[in-house]
Amino acid sequence: MKAGIYIRVSTDKELQESSLEYQEACCSDFIKGNNFELYNTYKDVFTGTKTGKYNKGPGYKNLINDAIEGKIDVIIAKDLSRISRNTFELEKLRDLILSGKIHLITLEGAVDSTKGNIHYLSTYILIYSEEARMIRVRVEQSKKTMAKNGLFIGSIAPYGYYCVKGKLYVRNDESPKIIQYIFDSFVSGKSAESIAKELTENNIATPSQLSNKKGASSKWQASTIRKILKNEHYIGNLVQGKTKSINSTNKSRVENSNYIIVENTHEAIISKEQFNLVKDIINSRKSSSKVSRKTHLLSNLIYCETCGKAISLRNKDYICSGRLKYGKKMCCTEKIKQIDLLNLLTENIIDKIDNSDSDFLLNYIEERLNKNISKYKSTLNNLHMKKNKLENRKKEALNMHLDGCISRDKYNIVVNESDNDINDTLKNIHSIESMLSVKDKIDLSRDFDLLKSRIIKSVSLNPQILNYFIKRIEITNLGVPKIYYRF
Ligand SMILES: [Zn+2]
Repeated sequence: MKAGIYIRVSTDKELQESSLEYQEACCSDFIKGNNFELYNTYKDVFTGTKTGKYNKGPGYKNLINDAIEGKIDVIIAKDLSRISRNTFELEKLRDLILSGKIHLITLEGAVDSTKGNIHYLSTYILIYSEEARMIRVRVEQSKKTMAKNGLFIGSIAPYGYYCVKGKLYVRNDESPKIIQYIFDSFVSGKSAESIAKELTENNIATPSQLSNKKGASSKWQASTIRKILKNEHYIGNLVQGKTKSINSTNKSRVENSNYIIVENTHEAIISKEQFNLVKDIINSRKSSSKVSRKTHLLSNLIYCETCGKAISLRNKDYICSGRLKYGKKMCCTEKIKQIDLLNLLTENIIDKIDNSDSDFLLNYIEERLNKNISKYKSTLNNLHMKKNKLENRKKEALNMHLDGCISRDKYNIVVNESDNDINDTLKNIHSIESMLSVKDKIDLSRDFDLLKSRIIKSVSLNPQILNYFIKRIEITNLGVPKIYYRF
């Protein structure tokens, strides 16, 4: 059999033993031992940030291409987590294996498809999947398609405008004047808070009152004023996809650098000059009054044993906040270096997991599994909704075309792009459904040792894992941590 070795490292937190050379040596030993023929070695080195890790390296891409083209018969990797942490890549690989295009052998024994042993791959996908993130990216992408056509896709038009069939028009009431007033007041030196107060006192209808939201408040909020001051719609630009959902269940939105701006799609209320002036003012006021809230990884977990106060993080040291504020007279607990404490915690947690009996850990794994399953289910829901929306969008486009609002070409573009998105959405739906169907066949106790070793390898200190394993950490007056576990 012709074999391809796949190796992968992240340079930010790799131990010596899992370096490229070590992985490669293990794999080529295995190839020699089994009389396989080495076709090629594929490498990916990931550096830096978390987001960077989502980029498929050329190594992995070439590996999959060669597998599809039949240049290799079997992929050898040191262990499963080396291949990818991306669910969709793993799924694609699993489909290739199931369709007989390629074999996969991982050296830690989790997967050997030449012996029909691949169930662990599905289990792994379900337990370690990264929040079905790629799907959300695709959903956002189809929204962008709509936006590129210059159509407003939000559910509610910005304050001061109304929306007819994807186009924004200036309202015929006082709201455009209020917007001008807000910008003028801010430039004249008033704060968002005082503008909000003034508008409330003058009984000006709030944006949510104007849009007939249920239970709309008559009180203007400073945050509403700030949003208006930053809203590019007021200079006649259509801004779409500026925010994206944090996850499929959380409706709040975060800044997204990939938003689309289509200029001059509708009548402006504010001049570009004034808008830019306000932007400058906001930036300069922000930098002069910087208030930083000090939370850290161990916030709400770590306390001073002597005086009971919380431990703060200052200049890479953990130090009693009592001592920090009032000096040694108040508390003389020694500080402890951040890196020392974090290393110690990692070691301790790994040790605990390694020596714990199965029950606690099994619960942990099950909880993770269930969480991921419910995430997938809600993603599935969203996908179905998305599909319906796309189909409605096609109908809307048809109506707009029949009413003469959009040309036949534009209508065709919308239909084609909707159809593409519907196809993608259906693929994603199918893929999640097939993955969820594995759920009932998972037997955690059968794979317990593998799962345990996987957890040990993937331990990284995040609030979730810390709070699951650790009840409380106390620092003694000598600066020594006492760790209280939940098990
Ligand atoms: Zn103290």
